[in-house]
Amino acid sequence: MKSFHPPVRTLMGPGPSDVNPRILEALSRPTIGHLDPAFIEMMDEIKQLLQYAFKTENELTMPVSAPGSAGMETVFVNLIERGDKVIICQNGVFGGRMKENVERCGAQAIVVEDPWGSTIDIDKVERALTENPDAKAIAFVHAETSTGTRSDVEVLCGLAAKYDCLSIVDAVTSLGGIELEVDAWGIDAIYSGTQKCLSCVPGLSPVSFSERAVRSIRERESKVQSWFLDLNLVMGYWGSDAKRSYHHTAPVNSLYALHESLLILQEEGLQNAWDRHALNHEALVAGLEALGLKFVVDKEYRLPQLNAVSFPASIDDAAVRTALLNDYNLEIGSGLGALAGSVWRIGLMGFASNKSNVLLCISALGNVLAAQGLQADVSKAVAAALTVYAA
Ligand SMILES: *Cc1c(COP(=O)(O)O)cnc(C)c1O
Repeated sequence: MKSFHPPVRTLMGPGPSDVNPRILEALSRPTIGHLDPAFIEMMDEIKQLLQYAFKTENELTMPVSAPGSAGMETVFVNLIERGDKVIICQNGVFGGRMKENVERCGAQAIVVEDPWGSTIDIDKVERALTENPDAKAIAFVHAETSTGTRSDVEVLCGLAAKYDCLSIVDAVTSLGGIELEVDAWGIDAIYSGTQKCLSCVPGLSPVSFSERAVRSIRERESKVQSWFLDLNLVMGYWGSDAKRSYHHTAPVNSLYALHESLLILQEEGLQNAWDRHALNHEALVAGLEALGLKFVVDKEYRLPQLNAVSFPASIDDAAVRTALLNDYNLEIGSGLGALAGSVWRIGLMGFASNKSNVLLCISALGNVLAAQGLQADVSKAVAAALTVYAA
């Protein structure tokens, strides 16, 4: 055996996305102790940078030392107790995982379902709230990565407030890619991930909790069933009031990486980052539609960072993705769950959301499709994308 050197890929799937070289460099800086005063100073900066990214003043804002799924689990095991009732909106894979979490907390999940590729139907959610006045929380995904659909978080949080429920939001794919306002929209609990629009290495999950949510955690009747994710304990390490004490060994170098990625986001500015994602998405749409591919989601609810497109039945899905990987070092995502085998998911997340990736994807995919017999005018498709940038 010898050292592992990964191939250099362009990552345009559902995550991880391309990591900015500045972040990789930060990752390789010397490891220091996780209670070293210099490290603790950096942790305080991470917290401030996360408050900026989430647009919140929430005191309890920090990264969980594990991937997005652990952020999801942190939110549910801390807020939900045995016997509680939670309304779950499901229009893709990740809503289903929220339901799993609720049930494993010993609570009841009331599922409001919408078709994959459709946005969450607000009227159906309101009906569920009126039929279940004892619901403790309502949970939904902001950016459903399995379909490329955006939910109206502001309206859904307004409903939660109206019916005196906590709002729980999955922002794994939305943070840094589209507008997200934790305080202005009244989000009570939110979790994200590092490897999507933050373009950081995978393995951390930023979370944030409102005062109302913190109160609910402090007033629990039972102990949180997970020792590792119990925020009452984690706060002894991440909280600013108490003297910091050992809870678990923080992933020191990964946190350097997160610090750098959040700094990059702050340097660019949230609005500029959202605008960049929107522009590259528009150019990709122009190019892919010129190739004859169809978008799964209605324009109004499309995510700029995750583009789900369907392809003709004559096309060999796996062969196309293999050719892209082998001939162009380009990774795009396959369909997930109900959309498996019928769509591709093309990510334009964070550092990967740029003009050259858009043009690479259109020309590479166009060439591969043409080789499979699809009538595709590749140069016309590239020109259509360039027109968007020239406007
Ligand atoms: C990727 C993703 C997750 C899970 O994050 P991991 O880091 O893979 O655990 C959860 N929710 C959504 C919407 C995601 O896209």
